Formats: sequence, C-alpha cells, structure tokens
Amino acid sequence: MTFQSPKGTFDWLPPRSERALRVREAMAEPARRAGYGYIETPTFEDTALFARGVGESTDIVSKEMYTFQDKGGRSITLRPEGTAPVVRAVLQHGLHNGRLPVKLWYSGNNFRYERAQRGRYRHFSQVGIEALGAEDPVLDAEVISLGVQGYAALGLGGITLLLNTLGCKECRPAYRAALQGFLRGLDLDEATRQRIEINPLRVLDDSRPEVQARLTGVPLVTDHLCQACKAYHEDVRSLLTASGVAYTDDPRLVRGLDYYTRTTFEFVHGGLGSQSAVGGGGRYDGLSEMIGGPPLPSVGWAIGVDRTVLAMEAEGLFGEDPATGTPVQVYGVPLGEEARRRMFLLLAEIRAAGFVADMAFGGKGLKGAMKGADRSGASVALILGERDLAAQAVQMKDLTTAEQTEVPLAQVVEALKGKIQ
Ligand code: ATP
Ligand code: MG
Repeated sequence: MTFQSPKGTFDWLPPRSERALRVREAMAEPARRAGYGYIETPTFEDTALFARGVGESTDIVSKEMYTFQDKGGRSITLRPEGTAPVVRAVLQHGLHNGRLPVKLWYSGNNFRYERAQRGRYRHFSQVGIEALGAEDPVLDAEVISLGVQGYAALGLGGITLLLNTLGCKECRPAYRAALQGFLRGLDLDEATRQRIEINPLRVLDDSRPEVQARLTGVPLVTDHLCQACKAYHEDVRSLLTASGVAYTDDPRLVRGLDYYTRTTFEFVHGGLGSQSAVGGGGRYDGLSEMIGGPPLPSVGWAIGVDRTVLAMEAEGLFGEDPATGTPVQVYGVPLGEEARRRMFLLLAEIRAAGFVADMAFGGKGLKGAMKGADRSGASVALILGERDLAAQAVQMKDLTTAEQTEVPLAQVVEALKGKIQ
C-alpha cells in the first residue's frame, strides 16, 4: 500500500521547490536590511491564543482551525496564522520592554481547514514581518514598502496594492452601527444576516456577486473616520506616494481577522483567478490587549509563499526551464572499490572549492555511471579507474565536446577553475 499526501496539501519537489525558497529569501531580505530580526515560534499553540487573538467571529476560528487535545488534556491548535504567536512571544519574553518598535520577521507553515483548490491549501507557507510598539504612519509606510520591495526583487510586475483604513476604537463603533443599519435593510440569506450582527465588516468581504450587487450605497469607513484616523491615513498615503509606491484606495477592503485597526492593505495579483490575494496586512493596535498584554500598537504583513510562486509562474518569470536551483557542475565516475573511496575525498575537496559536485553511487559500471553524468547536467566528468589510481591521476572529460585529458589528482581543483565559469 502506498500513501498520498492529505487532501489540501502538496509536496514541494525539486527543482520547483527552489522557487519557494527564492520567494522566502526575496521577501525577507528587505526586512532584514531594515532591522527586522528572525523569530521562530512553535507550530502549535494554546487554542485560546487564537480564539482570543484572531477572534471567535472569524472564519479561521469558527471553521478552519486544526484543534485537538494533547495527551496531557490541553487544547492545542496548529498555527493558522503568524501574528498572534509573534505577539504572544514578544509579551512572554518582555521584548516590548526594550527598544521600540520591536521588529521581527518569520517564515513558516500554517494550517487551515479550507475548501481546497488551486492557491488555497490546508497547509501553506507564509513569510511575515511585524513591527510592534509604535504608532507612526512612517512605520506603516515602511512595512508596506518592504513588501513592495520584496515583490519587485522577484520581478513581479502584476501586483496591485489595495489600501484602506478601518478606523480605531473611537470611530469604528459608530461606523459599525451605521453599517449594521444599512445591511439589516437588505435581502440577504440567514448566514449573512447572522454575520451582520457578529462581524458586519466581513459582509463587505463576501465574494459572491449577488451579495456585492446589493452593497451599492453601503456606508464606507472612510466617511466615518475620526480626525486622528483621517490625518493618520492621509500621512500613510502621502508617504507612500512620496516613496514612489503606487496604491489603489479600496474603501471596502476589510480583512479576515478581527484584530485590525487603521491601516489595512492587501497585495493582489490578476493571474490567480479567485485566489487573488498574494499577501496582506495592516495595523493591529488592539491585539496585545486582547491576549492580556499592555497596549502595543503594531503593524505587519504576511505574504503567501505558495500563491506568490503561482503568480510568478503566471507571469512566466521562470521561463521554460523549471530548474532554478544549483545545477551539478562536476560528476565523479569511480570504477572499483578503491576509486570510490578516493572519489569521495576528491569531491569534498572540489565542493570546498565552491563547485557543485555529485558522483555515481552503488558501484555502477562505466556505462551506467556515464549515463548518470549526462543526466546530472554536469559539464565535466571525472573518471577514476584502477590505472588512474596507480598514476595518481584522473580522466577529466568535457561532456560538451567529449574531449578527455588526464589531470594529476593534486591538480584537479586548479584544472576545474580553468574550465568552469
Ligand atoms: P483569503 O481571503 O484568500 O482567504 P486571507 O485573508 O485568509 O486570504 P491572510 O490570513 O491575510 O489571508 O494571509 C495572508 C496571505 O496568506 C494571503 O494573502 C494568501 O496569500 C496566503 N493564504 C491565506 N490562506 C491561504 C491558503 N489556505 N492557502 C494558501 N495561501 C493562503
Ligand atoms: Mg482566508
């Protein structure tokens, strides 16, 4: 019997897996240059952290969490998102008592029990950044531009930045009430009517065209902002414009998590069908308090690695050849027991000199080993037989021209330097 990966999951295999690595590296690099330190939190947490931090009314908490009881009777949840765990770690270790803002970046797997489809998986990967403990429009602009820089470094041209604000605890309640008043007057299904009472902002996020059609004339948060939120948002917008970051105002943009306040944004890509969001984030000034900490105004984003790779593929950024990794340059062909031992040592020397090298394993004969050399994509094969060993030399074969020369073992690295690059 063989096994399949569970529904909604898939394996990243070489060479395509290199694309995921590249996305992680490119998205993290601008943040590292801006002073964000790497944080790794556990893959599972106390269930209550997400219930309180993400919010009971969200899809994540109400439908999508992988929750189980461990053998000690604790309720455990596999991480569905990265922000609540980061805030938990900051509070637990008192990082917020030092220099502010605390700047952190992470890269890791998330788990959500979703309707599996292209770009929407039950196990997926994100890179995220969080800046905690400062309320400053410059910080919001920094966070957003770091995301924009990451996508630009990947060569992605088709990303649109959608920008909105959700107000704060001063102005949001009045907006929420106005929104509820409007929505209650609409002809909507029962589940949506319930949502109006629990989390009315989420109705704006409903992707069904029949719901969107009814939302004409819906009150917009941007018309209900307090003076402070209005000024803050204007600052963020003008800072982005000044730094050359293009954005589209989207006054209906809300996010799936309860903890967002003020600046909210999403990066969308046109080549992904309905799973168009490649990343998103915003300010979450209330989250720390929701999980028992002091006020800690913060801002961050998380980008989906899987969807970003799909977006790059949609733009043809990898060309025809799926290989983007480190291709083998040198391939060892040892003939006989003693040659295998010697080749093992020679490869270590060649690799230490910076070449990518592999060899034939399993005592293959010349023909089988040379087939391996061809398949590896290497440009040079090193053939080591008994006679070569006795002469302390190796046959260096150029696999493009088939030209073969004898090179003393002690001079192989030098000879490769002359041949490759
Ligand atoms: P969506 O509206 O598509 O469900 P979301 O609002 O739930 O996205 P976030 O929680 O903000 O997404 O996560 C940030 C990013 O992580 C998303 O923009 C997306 O790229 C990625 N992401 C979220 N859920 C999934 C998933 N199930 N599979 C793959 N990527 C995902
Ligand atoms: Mg979602």
